[in-house]
Amino acid sequence: MELQNLVEQVSIEDFGLPFEHQAVWNNRLRTTGGLFYPKDCHLAFNPLMYQKLTSIQFRQIIRHELCHYHLFRQKKGFHHRDKDFKKLLAEVDGLRYSPRVIQKKYRVYQCQKCGHEFVRVRQIDVNRFRCGNCSGKLIYQMDRYL
Ligand SMILES: [Zn+2]
Ligand SMILES: [Zn+2]
Repeated sequence: MELQNLVEQVSIEDFGLPFEHQAVWNNRLRTTGGLFYPKDCHLAFNPLMYQKLTSIQFRQIIRHELCHYHLFRQKKGFHHRDKDFKKLLAEVDGLRYSPRVIQKKYRVYQCQKCGHEFVRVRQIDVNRFRCGNCSGKLIYQMDRYL
């Protein structure tokens, strides 16, 4: 389901109020699940959380951001420290803090000859280690976080 539709659905089902602004993905979010922007009332979500968490947990992240959103629009305390926020968050069973998604750094190598990719946690000595398929030379490509 599209993010926009999902947020609109959670808003109606769990708050009984419409979400009338934009919900977008933000790849730059690392440890936070989502963010609320009071300036234009849009919400941003971390696509990594969506991939790694269960749909129930991700829904709780949406609820958290919608608490900011709806309280702000009702001119109530919409910050984490505010009583209104804590109360509404508890009512809708939102997530207090973003869960930690552990990301591990991998090194990606590619065979120059056959193009086969090798993903390893440890560094490979490319002078000694050759491709298992065609014994071609490996070259370092990039780091990938999985
Ligand atoms: Zn928050
Ligand atoms: Zn190869």
